[in-house]
Amino acid sequence: MALPKQSDDFPAWYQQVVKGAELAENSLARGSMVIRPYGYALWEAIQSGVDRRIKRTGHSNVYFPLLIPQSLLDKEADHVEGFAPQVAVVTHGGGSKLEEPLIIRPTSETIIWATYAKWIQSYRDLPLLYNQWANVVRWEMRTRLFLRTSEFLWQEGHTAHETADEAIAEARMILLDVYRETVEEDFAIPVLAGRKTESERFPGAIETLAIEALMRDGKALQAGTSHYLGQNFAKAYGVQFLGRDGQQDFPYATSWGVSTRLVGGLIMAHGDDKGLKLPPRLAPFQVVIVPIYRDEQKGTVLEAVKRISDSLGDVRVKIDDREEHRPGYKFNEWELKGVPVRLEIGPRDLEAGQVMAYRRDTGEKSAVPLTSLPSAVPDLLADIHRSLFQSALEFRSEHTFAPGSYAELTDLLSSGSGFVQGGWCGSPECEDKVKDQTKATIRVLPLDSEAQEGHCVVCGSPAIELATWAQSY
Ligand SMILES: [Zn+2]
Repeated sequence: MALPKQSDDFPAWYQQVVKGAELAENSLARGSMVIRPYGYALWEAIQSGVDRRIKRTGHSNVYFPLLIPQSLLDKEADHVEGFAPQVAVVTHGGGSKLEEPLIIRPTSETIIWATYAKWIQSYRDLPLLYNQWANVVRWEMRTRLFLRTSEFLWQEGHTAHETADEAIAEARMILLDVYRETVEEDFAIPVLAGRKTESERFPGAIETLAIEALMRDGKALQAGTSHYLGQNFAKAYGVQFLGRDGQQDFPYATSWGVSTRLVGGLIMAHGDDKGLKLPPRLAPFQVVIVPIYRDEQKGTVLEAVKRISDSLGDVRVKIDDREEHRPGYKFNEWELKGVPVRLEIGPRDLEAGQVMAYRRDTGEKSAVPLTSLPSAVPDLLADIHRSLFQSALEFRSEHTFAPGSYAELTDLLSSGSGFVQGGWCGSPECEDKVKDQTKATIRVLPLDSEAQEGHCVVCGSPAIELATWAQSY
């Protein structure tokens, strides 16, 4: 199957890669997706890295129900206003109309905080550091596999703290030590970590933090968010605790999540015209071995392949010994599926005591002596990880701009050139003006706002922030 070129039609390229690499497909229920085994294996690898870091930082997993009484959603005004248009509602059950409709969770702050009211009485009950892995539904009219579907998979953390400082520190810690670390170290994708502007905040949040990654088409992808919710949800759900000073107080909250959207980010941050390029730490198969032989050599070659595979220990190896396909067909298929390393093994190689190793990221091919393979393959995988990260970082530098004028800013943003950085006066009017003209939004402001020199690139007033704009998914 020939892929469209990225430079000709990036959306078509994306769609064909998702289909051709057998990651996911549209389901019979409009707007939702079926995740196929290869795509789900990727999600499991992502989950495993995120879950390990969530637990390492002191959190436990819990599970709350899918269905939420509608009245619970109605209690937090900003939250209900933000989510109401996207909520799916169950009105009937067991053949009759329900007395109170149930919503399918679009996120779980409501049910979790209604439950925390029972769990939190004293400062001794705090902090609560909980996370759940779940599916959520947000009704979408225009969907795209992994990037925007009505139902998606994610984790959502919900913590409660005694003080505001503690909750703010938690939201930042999750952003940097869990999300940034996962995306940079497992995905080999560099991210910008920062604050969202008020208009881009999560409904009900006081502050929303996010990591943003640059895709190969110059658009940004929000790869994870972490919210400081203040006392909004505690007040809406009547959660109070007896403080150290003997007074009743409302606890401070955070919530944070990453989703199957990350799979879309992985495809678009590294992929090329041949298909996926998977980072070794997430690849379901890190090495594919393609045996090459004529009939009479089959036994010898397959035996050697088995031996070589066993010698690779913990490396995740796929032996492609399908008889119905030629080696060339297999090469193309595994390149499309992004397997980091391909080993080609034929009788001549075996006689010479070597195999041919092809790396997907650079396309380089080299002969590796059989005796050094058990150490050469892990070294090669580590080098591929570094080189993927480096090349994504270089791409981002080449696609980050600092325009000198408003005309230059809107030109860069209208053509979807990448990240565009400039001074901002902090006014929603300037933010809206850029959005109206170019559809681009401020993706992040620096995590720690520093004294800003210079002027707003939109209106010329003194700047108070350094904003990063981009078109986004
Ligand atoms: Zn301005």
